[in-house]
Amino acid sequence: MSEFDDDYSFDTLAVRAGQVRSAEGEHGEPIFLTSSYVFSSAAEAAKRFSGEQPGNIYSRFTNPTVRTFTQRLAALEGAESCVATASGMSAILSTCLALLKTGDHIVSSRSIFGTTTMLFSNYLAKLGIETSFVDLPDLSAWAAAIRPQTRLLFLETPSNPLTELADIKQLAELAQQHDCLLVVDNCFCTPALQQPIKLGADIVIHSATKFLDGQGRCVGGAVLGSKDVVGTDVYGFLRTAGPTMSAFNAWVFLKGLETLNIRMQAHSAKALALAQWLEQEPKIARVYYPGLASHPQHQLAKIQQTGFGGLLSFELKGGQDAAWKLIDATRMISITANLGDTRSTITHPATTTHGRLTAEQRHQTGIADGLIRVAVGLEDIADMQKDLARGLA
Ligand SMILES: *Cc1c(COP(=O)(O)O)cnc(C)c1O
Repeated sequence: MSEFDDDYSFDTLAVRAGQVRSAEGEHGEPIFLTSSYVFSSAAEAAKRFSGEQPGNIYSRFTNPTVRTFTQRLAALEGAESCVATASGMSAILSTCLALLKTGDHIVSSRSIFGTTTMLFSNYLAKLGIETSFVDLPDLSAWAAAIRPQTRLLFLETPSNPLTELADIKQLAELAQQHDCLLVVDNCFCTPALQQPIKLGADIVIHSATKFLDGQGRCVGGAVLGSKDVVGTDVYGFLRTAGPTMSAFNAWVFLKGLETLNIRMQAHSAKALALAQWLEQEPKIARVYYPGLASHPQHQLAKIQQTGFGGLLSFELKGGQDAAWKLIDATRMISITANLGDTRSTITHPATTTHGRLTAEQRHQTGIADGLIRVAVGLEDIADMQKDLARGLA
């Protein structure tokens, strides 16, 4: 039920939803680089400001290019409303500050983006909003952590880097029983592979920086959900506090959405081929990828997702030394923590994204010293294999 009301399918919505042609009859979407809008009279200005007449006032509130992006993404996620933000982090911040107050409580998966953990633990905590962290796949741990003050359940599925899944339907029921909102950061799957709102989630968060752009160009984010929660409450915070998306970035993300499905299919196919190849390698202890039959939640992944995504990790038997040697032996794959790009990237989580954790905490969360994460891009599979095989030799 999006604002784009024809019942077109995903691929059609991805290239056409949200576009309103101007009097120029342009085929491609224009970029409206304007900070404010002109009224035909003082009376019209007054009506716009009072809300009596809908329409543009100022680009912190609304912008036609940004609106095309939010309507298109809403159509793809099956959401009533969408707001666009300056980054993925400002999407999470805006959601929390719009919906929470001092004394409220969040239950969050332990396996979330490191900066989100810091936002919850360091900054929301300062405002008297407490967060409890639980193991993502453990439904009983979620249930046990809920208090009367709990307002949000927050997660990413599959997780990064170990690709664990949460059962979104079950968590949505749990959230409903306790009058909480289920928030899913859908960054890794994108609506091309997983649509959490259709599974009962209340809010979907995006870092548009990743697969929605898909070519590593712009930083941006989005929040999706109901007209009341997102279209009114989160939007109200956003237009007041100001971490909104620029028209230029919205235009770049629109171009990304047009190819989202075919890119996600390609990322998934290449990641599966690479994961199967890695699983045959004697120097690798374990491969983590939801598309492998050996993945403990392979069945759930098949039901909940329409593809397995571009993220995989694997553990080398030789520990950190072997992991660093493999990374340093690559010539093509980029050594960087970013993901969701056409270019494949490789990282050593224990000394980068999870380097701030103690050895004990890393052990608890399964981040072994020999673990390597690959965000599989769109290069040729044989070239990726050649690049990784050098370090395995
Ligand atoms: C990158 C990322 C974010 C933060 O997004 P930015 O656009 O970098 O602010 C949030 N969640 C996940 C899962 C991410 O990968």
